[in-house]
Amino acid sequence: MRTANGWNRIEKKVMEGKRLSPAEGVSLLSEKYPFLELGALADWKRFRLFPERQVTFVIDANPNYTNVCDTGCHFCAFFRRPGHPEAYTLTVEQVLEKIGASAARGATTVLLQGGHNRGLPLEYYEELLRETARRYPGMTPHFFSAPEIRTMAEVSGRPVPEVLKILWNAGQRTLPGGGAEVLSRRVRREISPKKGGPEDWLEVHRVAHRLGYRSTATLMFGHVETPGDVVEHWDRLRNLQDETGGFTAFIPWSFKPGNTALEKKGLRPAGAVRYLRILAASRLYLDNFPHVQASWFSEGRKTGQAALRFGADDFGGTVFDENVHAAAGHRAAAAAEEVAALIREAGFVPVQRDTLYKTLKIFPGPGRRARR
Ligand code: SF4
Repeated sequence: MRTANGWNRIEKKVMEGKRLSPAEGVSLLSEKYPFLELGALADWKRFRLFPERQVTFVIDANPNYTNVCDTGCHFCAFFRRPGHPEAYTLTVEQVLEKIGASAARGATTVLLQGGHNRGLPLEYYEELLRETARRYPGMTPHFFSAPEIRTMAEVSGRPVPEVLKILWNAGQRTLPGGGAEVLSRRVRREISPKKGGPEDWLEVHRVAHRLGYRSTATLMFGHVETPGDVVEHWDRLRNLQDETGGFTAFIPWSFKPGNTALEKKGLRPAGAVRYLRILAASRLYLDNFPHVQASWFSEGRKTGQAALRFGADDFGGTVFDENVHAAAGHRAAAAAEEVAALIREAGFVPVQRDTLYKTLKIFPGPGRRARR
């Protein structure tokens, strides 16, 4: 079969466990390389790391504690400026009620994020963590993205390492990967000029990893980024992972333009093929990340299932109570049984995991009964 120049070399390097160069990363993202062969190579790599025909998922919820934010990212449909009639901030008790409702539905993880609300003191976040740990000891508080931690540091006048220590002492052990978008100065200047540079995001995760936290990393693509920007993003993450080993998973997802400032510039959704290419290339380039997540929630159920043969080994979560994508007109959520059925339909045994990828329950796959 005829393939583009360089493809065979990349294939050979991956199979020999050699690291891909930035130029090879850019090539993977170009249309000249065969889409299905790229998927097959990522699938090979995934089975090399996780030989069992299993796909993990978590029962989780993604509530938000406030939509008040003064950062004004151009891709965001969720935030409201302070004083806006639709602005809200939940009390600690109201957030805990949401966490309790998720616990009652079987959730083991709550991914809690919000806007950059400068009216909230550090004690608010501390109390949220302490009370979550006290009332719902089986729940992992996967709270607060790196830019929120930086906002806490600015508002409290304490350095980031101290804030992270305070949150650790209150019960936090993992950080979500939100707020990374694309770790390129050029892109951030264009889509989120007030959110800090790539180094700011990376530094929060670096310090957190050193303190013992584990975290995830995301990529939001499909707006103004070039293939070179995506490779820069991967490179920064791969380097930090070499340094700390603290990332558990990489989660790419596509920008949803609905109701955002970027929609007015004519941006449209990236589509399934672009998503699958980026996902597969991520599996190959990020050779030191254990898990790559299929984002069925943001890309749709069918694309999520296809992603399981394009390098992903994890299906994300049930995503109860999500508001950020919903603000952009994109709604999805599923019960655990439904997520398990999607995984099974794609030909895998569904495995419920916790935030740190520990197995909690193996669901029936072909010819198997549920066991703990
Ligand atoms: S993405 Fe986050 S920081 Fe940016 S405007 Fe939205 S809520 Fe604020």
